[in-house]
Amino acid sequence: MLNIALIAHDGKKHDLIEFVVQQKSFFKNVRIIATGNTGSLIEHCDLDLDVIKMKSGPMGGDSQIAALITEEQIDAVIFLIDPLDVHPHQVDVRMLLRICNVYDVALATNIRTARLLISAL
Ligand code: PGA
Repeated sequence: MLNIALIAHDGKKHDLIEFVVQQKSFFKNVRIIATGNTGSLIEHCDLDLDVIKMKSGPMGGDSQIAALITEEQIDAVIFLIDPLDVHPHQVDVRMLLRICNVYDVALATNIRTARLLISAL
């Protein structure tokens, strides 16, 4: 089973939830690893998806996901970044993006690329 990390900044959470609902048949067959608040919102959709929640992003959730990548436990990352907002955990965000590139993990940071990514998977 594929392990897909899902993360969305606050300004992009609505878009991510809409995406997961639209693509629920894909997400039913994968294990979702999400940062805390993103994961809670996905659970509240009642789609009966397999969601493992990490800490919330600002409390280290991005770092936890990066650590899983270093252990080769994540197949792809969809991280909807809000480029129009500032984030207290910007260093963690940059670190996660860097680790994706270090480990050559598929990474989508906007919805259009996320669609392309899951259609390839
Ligand atoms: P959150 O974290 O899902 O817990 O809000 C996302 C983030 O990294 O900002």
